[in-house]
Amino acid sequence: MAKIGLQGRLFLSHVIVMVVGLSTLITVGKFYSPRLFVLHLAKLEGSGFKLGYVRYQLIKGFEYAWGRGALWSVVVGGSTAGGLSYLVARRIVKPLTQMEAITQKFASGNLSERMPANDIRELHRLAASFNRMAADLQGVEQRRRELVGDLTHELRTPLTVVEGYLEGLADGTIEPSVDIYQRLAKETRRLRRLVNDLQELSQAEAGYLPIHTQKLELLPLLTSLIQKFSDQLLEEGPELRLDCPAALPLALADPERVEQILINLLGNALQYTEQGSITVQAWSEAGKVWVAVVDTGVGIAPADLPHVFERFWRSDPSRDRSSGGTGIGLSISRRLVELQGGQIEVESQVGQGSTFRFSLPLA
Ligand code: ADP
Repeated sequence: MAKIGLQGRLFLSHVIVMVVGLSTLITVGKFYSPRLFVLHLAKLEGSGFKLGYVRYQLIKGFEYAWGRGALWSVVVGGSTAGGLSYLVARRIVKPLTQMEAITQKFASGNLSERMPANDIRELHRLAASFNRMAADLQGVEQRRRELVGDLTHELRTPLTVVEGYLEGLADGTIEPSVDIYQRLAKETRRLRRLVNDLQELSQAEAGYLPIHTQKLELLPLLTSLIQKFSDQLLEEGPELRLDCPAALPLALADPERVEQILINLLGNALQYTEQGSITVQAWSEAGKVWVAVVDTGVGIAPADLPHVFERFWRSDPSRDRSSGGTGIGLSISRRLVELQGGQIEVESQVGQGSTFRFSLPLA
């Protein structure tokens, strides 16, 4: 069976309604009007009018006038209604065909097209959610491109170093030594860390990281983390403190992910704090619990602050590359916080220290 399009169906349904309406009108009119007219004439005769042989002419004349009137009504009414219904059907279908054309453009890689606003409420909502989807897709696509670009850049550096050493060792221009092998091992470790981080980042960004939220008591988790990190601290290093009320309301969060975020924040704090203190604070506020890691380290310049959560961003690339930072940790942390329904913020003053804090919803 041949498929009729939406526009055709709408038009056809209008035409059917119109034909039914007009034919009912005409049938009923044709049947009743002359009878009523004859009755009317009889009434006139009854009240003393002499109609005589004009009566036949009158009836014929009436029928003729009625027939003409009906014909013109059908012609004018039918074509106006038909035209209008065609226009309405086209107006409803046009945004849909437009949407189809835009999805085809999307498929061929052009994600910048958007649906225009529509004054039919349902179609307007459809266009709005279509546009939201398009914007999301565009964001994902852009991030993917950036990621591949950043990634090749990040991988190239250690690869070039390893290649240089290996070639030097092979043709004898570099003497094999413990130091050389250690450097090679360090670069390969860096590559491995990068790959691990990337895997986690890509999962986190795509939202595939499983998050098992549960009612979580923060105090024991924070205490055990502080304990773990204290064991790594050197004598002359910063002091690690915990500042958390005993009666903290339960958070709704995934303990493993919260630990992952805190390990990252504490790791950074330790790396950038020579002396002073690193304090883990927790408090509750209107429907959320906040956890903060406050350090008295080098701090972050105001111009750099907006970038710290961007992936691969490091305030001093050369320094951090050698110290092993990949600039991925904070972007993973941000994603993990967002996946649990919270937000992450940073405040910092150069030379005074930094505060990274994140919120979690209350259970
Ligand atoms: P990395 O693996 O390089 O630490 P992050 O995403 O965790 O990556 O951090 C990004 C950058 O933010 C770091 O390279 C550093 O420059 C800056 N940063 C993060 N935490 C701190 C901190 N507590 N104090 C000063 N700078 C920080």
